[in-house]
Amino acid sequence: MAVEPEAARELAFDHRPVTDQSFENALEKARAGERLSVADAIELLTTGTGREGIDPDRKERVLEAADARRAEVVGEEVTFVANLNNNVTTACNTGCLFCNFKDSAHAFERDSGIEHPGFTKTPEESREIVADALDLGIYEVCSVSGLHPAFALDDEHLEILRTADDRELNFEVPERYATDPGTYVEQMEAMSVGDVHLHSMTPEEAYHARRGTDWSYEEVYGRLAEAGLDSVPGTAAEILVDEVREVICPGKIGTEEWIEAIEAAASVGLDTTATIMYGHVENEAHRAMHLKRIRDLQDRTGVITEFVPLSFVHRETPLYERGVVSGGASTDEDELMIAVSRLFLDNVENVQSSWVKYGDQQGLKMLSCGANDFMGTILSEEITKRAGGEYGEFRDVSDLVEMISSVGRVPVERSTDYRTKRRVELDGGPYGPKLGPKADGTPMAE
Ligand code: SF4
Repeated sequence: MAVEPEAARELAFDHRPVTDQSFENALEKARAGERLSVADAIELLTTGTGREGIDPDRKERVLEAADARRAEVVGEEVTFVANLNNNVTTACNTGCLFCNFKDSAHAFERDSGIEHPGFTKTPEESREIVADALDLGIYEVCSVSGLHPAFALDDEHLEILRTADDRELNFEVPERYATDPGTYVEQMEAMSVGDVHLHSMTPEEAYHARRGTDWSYEEVYGRLAEAGLDSVPGTAAEILVDEVREVICPGKIGTEEWIEAIEAAASVGLDTTATIMYGHVENEAHRAMHLKRIRDLQDRTGVITEFVPLSFVHRETPLYERGVVSGGASTDEDELMIAVSRLFLDNVENVQSSWVKYGDQQGLKMLSCGANDFMGTILSEEITKRAGGEYGEFRDVSDLVEMISSVGRVPVERSTDYRTKRRVELDGGPYGPKLGPKADGTPMAE
């Protein structure tokens, strides 16, 4: 954690990384495959709470235990998916302090006269982008967007919002904006082109899609599934401990509501992923509590296909610019986060290393710290880039195959839900995707 001393004093959290467990006991339990407690996870994440800083030898022992567990659970295969990111809009008034993806929605109004770097896509534009990417061989379109005030679930919801008296609803009529994003249902129908797998509608977006109504999350996700939604990104989770959320994203739904939304998605037959966004104001106790909430959720639902640790990219975010944090997680913290995720989440098979967040070299290193998935091609990636990420926007299948092979692991193309896999035969390449509805093995880029 990289919190300025001044800010840290103000952030007097109730939960602190203090336990009555010992590091050695916790590591012994991890090696033996016993289910870990929150106290165990704190000991492993800190390499012992009884001492300052991370001990390099202890850290290596945690990483070794996680790597051994990874080999037991999923073997030597490293998976990836051919996917496209199509984010519909950057218009958002939620004001999360870790985010630089959004632009004030006011700037998008027809006559605002404000220059801004953001965008909104109509459903027709989304459809064209997905159709083009489908021809290149993608399997999945992942779509996560700002909470545009004109967004409604569907026409019925739009009418409810138009006639609502409540000025606190974060709603403005679509006619007010230079570009109308359409409804969520229209965007889902547009992006659901030709058997592509549509991965969209985080719990936060689902909340936006029911504001001003008494509709349940089941109702909302049910309508979205009918419109073509196939699975739900478990993002917007950040840290699932409310005392942290109150600092970094006070405008967002709380922990219980995030969990309720994922359970609802599960109940209508949608798979989900799960994430943690760490390395800002939280401490190791919060990280461990978050892992426990994800494991409990998976015990109840069984729908979480992968866990994705996301290291906070601090540059150009309000948290950094306002001096609340001085940086993100250290490399040691990143490696321990991956390793302890693998050891703690005994009911989630896949742990992802994100090359967007860690870069190629460190991303590959994470494959020996407990991770077994190397994300995807990501034909367009705006979110991390706008927060100051440095690692580019796209990796062709050939890049992924070469990188995975270079560390002695087996490259495997997968479907979003990991139920379909294709081991890539190494014949010198170049390699292209084969699992997408229109994929025939042709490389995606020259
Ligand atoms: S994280 Fe999402 S909800 Fe929060 S400000 Fe950014 S775009 Fe808006």
